[in-house]
Amino acid sequence: MDQMDFDFIINHLGENRDSYMGAVCPPIFQTSNFSFKTVEEFRKAFENEQNSHIYTRGNNPTVEVLRKKLAAMENTEDALVFSSGIAAISATVIAFLRQGDHVVCINKPYSWTRHLFDVILKRFGIDVSYFDPEIPEHYKAQCRDNTRLIFIESPCSLTFACMDLTEVAEFATKKGIKTLIDNSHCSPLFQQPSKFGIDLILHSATKYINGHSDVVAGVVCGKSEDISKIFRNEYMTLGACISPMDASLLIRGLRTYKLRLMQSHEGGLQVAKWLKKHPKVERLMHPFLDRDESNQSLMQQMSGTGGLFAFYLKTTSLESCEKFSNRLKKFLMAVSWGGHESLILPGAAFTKNAEIKPGSLPFQYFRLYIGLEDPEILIRDLEQALEVV
Ligand SMILES: *Cc1c(COP(=O)(O)O)cnc(C)c1O
Repeated sequence: MDQMDFDFIINHLGENRDSYMGAVCPPIFQTSNFSFKTVEEFRKAFENEQNSHIYTRGNNPTVEVLRKKLAAMENTEDALVFSSGIAAISATVIAFLRQGDHVVCINKPYSWTRHLFDVILKRFGIDVSYFDPEIPEHYKAQCRDNTRLIFIESPCSLTFACMDLTEVAEFATKKGIKTLIDNSHCSPLFQQPSKFGIDLILHSATKYINGHSDVVAGVVCGKSEDISKIFRNEYMTLGACISPMDASLLIRGLRTYKLRLMQSHEGGLQVAKWLKKHPKVERLMHPFLDRDESNQSLMQQMSGTGGLFAFYLKTTSLESCEKFSNRLKKFLMAVSWGGHESLILPGAAFTKNAEIKPGSLPFQYFRLYIGLEDPEILIRDLEQALEVV
C-alpha cells in the first residue's frame, strides 16, 4: 500500500460526515441499542447483524468507522474490534478449533496467548506443540494430521525472532491449515501479513494503534468469510466488544499513527545502535540490528519495526541489574509498550534470586520501548544508569 492510501485511510476512510452534520470527528454513539420504524426494517437488519445497527455488542457506528480503517490498513476485507488484544486472540483461536484438534505455535508467544493454549484449551481436548522460529523448518516437523492452526508472532515481542511469512503461508495452505499472526509488533505500517498469504491478523491495539497508553483494545483482520464466522459465534457470545468511547479514542490515536510509528522506529534504532556498541551490553536483540546478511531478504517483508527491542547486560549480579533499572529517570518501569512514553521491562522483576529457572526471563534481560522522547536524552539516561553495572 502506498503512503497516500494510508493517509486517506487514517484521515477519511469509513467516515460518513454527511450523516452527522459535517462533523470532522465521528460522534461517539453512546447507545446500547438502536430502534426501527417497521418490522420489515428490523427483520432486514437481523439478516446482516454484522453490518447493521441493532445492538452495540454486535456493531455500533463509531466502532464501524474504526473497523473499516483497520481492515483497509491490513489490506483485508473486514475487521472486528475487541475490548483487549487477548480477547481478539482468544475468540479467533477458538473459532477455528474443536475437541481433538492440534495447534502449532511459536515457542515464546505473548504470555496470555501461551496460557490460552496450555491451560484453557487443554481442558477442552485441544493439543499444542511449540516450535523454535530460529530452527529452520521446525514448525513443519511439528504439524500432524489434526493440526488446524499455525500461530506465529514475527517479530516475536520477547525474542525478536522473525519468520518468512510467505513460506509459512504456502506450507499451511497446502495442508489446509489456517495461519494466524499476532502483528502487534510491526503493525500494518511496517508489515501487512495478508500480502504474504497469512489468513488472520491479530493486534493488541493497546499498543501502537491506540498509542496513548489510555485504552486496552484488540483487533482481528481477515477475509469476510472468516470474520463473519468469528462475528456470528465467538464475537457475539464471548461479548468482548469495544465501547464506543474507546473506539473513538482509537480513531483519534490513528490520526497520528504514522508519525508516531516513524518517530518510535527512528528513535529505537538510534538508542539500540548506541547500546549495541556499549561494553557492558552482552547482546542486543533488535529485528533490524541483530541479523546477519543471510537474513536480510527476510527483513524485506518488514519496512520498519517500531521502538521495541531488548538487550542483555554483561553481569552476573542481580543487584546491579536492579540498581541499573532503578536509576533510570527517563524510562518508566512498566509492562506494555507502543505509547508516547519510553519504558523498561527488567527480567529481574520476575526473579527473586540469581538462579535462572528454565523458560523464565534471565535477570540480565531488559526490554526497552522507545517512545516519542528525544533519543539523545534517553541515551544520556542509559549512560548514567549503566555506571552502576
Ligand atoms: C500486549 C500484547 C498482547 C495482549 O494485548 P492486550 O491488549 O493487553 O490484551 C498480545 N500480543 C502482544 C504481542 C502484546 O504485546
